[in-house]
Amino acid sequence: MKRRHFVGGLAAAAGLAACGNESADCDGAGVAGPAETFEWSIVTSWPPRYPGLGIAVNNLADRIDAASGGRLKIKVYAGGELVPAFEVFDAVSRGTVEMGHGAGYYHRGKVDAAQFFTTIPFGLNYMEMNGWLYYGGGLELWRELYEPFNLIPFPCGNSGVQMGGWFNKEINSIEDLRGLKMRIPGLGGEVLRRAGGTPVTLPGSEIFTSLQTGAIDATEWVGPYNDVAFGLHNVARYYYYPGWQEPGPTLECIVNREAWDSLPDDLKAIVDIACQAINGDMAAEYTHGNVNSLQQLVDDPDVELREFPPEVLEHLKAITDEVVAEMVANDPEVARIYESFNAFREKSELNQRITEQEFLATRD
Ligand code: CA
Repeated sequence: MKRRHFVGGLAAAAGLAACGNESADCDGAGVAGPAETFEWSIVTSWPPRYPGLGIAVNNLADRIDAASGGRLKIKVYAGGELVPAFEVFDAVSRGTVEMGHGAGYYHRGKVDAAQFFTTIPFGLNYMEMNGWLYYGGGLELWRELYEPFNLIPFPCGNSGVQMGGWFNKEINSIEDLRGLKMRIPGLGGEVLRRAGGTPVTLPGSEIFTSLQTGAIDATEWVGPYNDVAFGLHNVARYYYYPGWQEPGPTLECIVNREAWDSLPDDLKAIVDIACQAINGDMAAEYTHGNVNSLQQLVDDPDVELREFPPEVLEHLKAITDEVVAEMVANDPEVARIYESFNAFREKSELNQRITEQEFLATRD
């Protein structure tokens, strides 16, 4: 983590030349001093250059490189290349690498409250997550939560409302959830367990084979854009909606505290702005990709698009409320975060209903 270089030559000469006798910008704190360069690594939970999730990290590194004039270079590692997909949090926390990209709900069992900053079942959609995180106090709570782990989190991508997933059997009633072995991470997995199913957490790279071999009966992954990229439509027939388990998951970029503190203010600003840019850019990529991939699936005679029966969704919602109430009762950290999260969700109901929901109903 100490790979930092002072480069002399033109950059430094240009910086010094800009320092007049009366200049206030020549104390080394601004950009006019010798250009210090940083070579960082970012580990991710995603397959290499994977549409949406993975490409966003390459875009993040490219933008930071370009905006910093090459002063902050970040090498991207796919899940498993440097550290396993689900050990991103620990690797960045320890300082093995400077940055990581993944999802907070993968830290369930370690930092349970982190799930609220990714998504919870029947939680906030993409618009609401951003409203809460950036302007409703969510990001401050997130940073407090990760502080003991030596990490600074940034919202860095969102897939939008996901799909309920791929199933090898029809889900016509809550009885059909019993005995169902399904890849579904986070709180959604716990809800399925209480509904009688067996949740499994697998990194994306292992889903196709697990479904194909029958090791699992069903999987949720993301939505049409990503699911088609994995070929999930070739190994399961029923594609259910809506994605009750993930209504607007925010991906996270995490930066090791010591590495962050080593950056001058302008590079810190570049990282911050680049993360915010990717947060929006990933959502745009999904919006575009999902539209096209969904059409492909609708045209596929081997795929049946299905809506979960209302009684199944109501049952899952009731279990979710029960699981969250237990978490709130057992963990003061969860209680504090949930209070903020849920207050925003309740206030947001009317606005979403009379704007997005009503508008789409009108347009259709
Ligand atoms: Ca998912």
